[in-house]
Amino acid sequence: MMGPPGAGKGTQAHVVADHFGVPAVSTGDIFRANVAEGTELGVEAKRFMDKGEYVPDSITNQMVRNRIQQLDAEPGFLLDGYPRTLAQVEELDGMIASTGHSLDAAVVLTVDPEELVQRLLQRAKTDGRADDTEEVIRRRQEVYAEQTEPLIGVYRERGILIEVDGMGPVDEVTKRIFDALDVVPQS
Ligand code: ADP
Repeated sequence: MMGPPGAGKGTQAHVVADHFGVPAVSTGDIFRANVAEGTELGVEAKRFMDKGEYVPDSITNQMVRNRIQQLDAEPGFLLDGYPRTLAQVEELDGMIASTGHSLDAAVVLTVDPEELVQRLLQRAKTDGRADDTEEVIRRRQEVYAEQTEPLIGVYRERGILIEVDGMGPVDEVTKRIFDALDVVPQS
């Protein structure tokens, strides 16, 4: 599940993963859990997250590698917020070659830039996430445009890209994703 900060990746990832009975693996959530627990990984990650920068690939890749090797990920998994760099794309290819999985689809949620900022500022009020200040939001958007947007072309070339309009109510977006994935949502 790809898309700029505020596109609704996390929300949609959970619905889609539940439908397929696989875990949603969110790198952002794992980092935040580690920050909250004060682990070594969390302390290191926080230095980057607070500035809106990506956590170094070496750290992120190792974390994902460990996570998808766990038993619950054996039938498959949905990645939310990974890969975000070209190096992570390559690393993921290697990881799933060794676990025997394959990448079926890359869903990218598209949302107007103005709407993104509004959503994140709203989330700042309700959730109080440390990286949802206006300055850091702007930096996260720049970093996304520089480092992650190019991945859309990579997955398009591979023929697995699904572009979904992320504007509008959550369940409408969900419906668009399921339509694009050609499955009927369980109710
Ligand atoms: P958002 O997409 O709104 O930035 P996330 O919760 O997905 O929110 O990510 C929060 C932060 O966690 C990112 O700004 C970054 O610092 C870090 N992070 C998450 N995923 C990755 C990744 N794949 N590579 C590097 N850093 C990541």
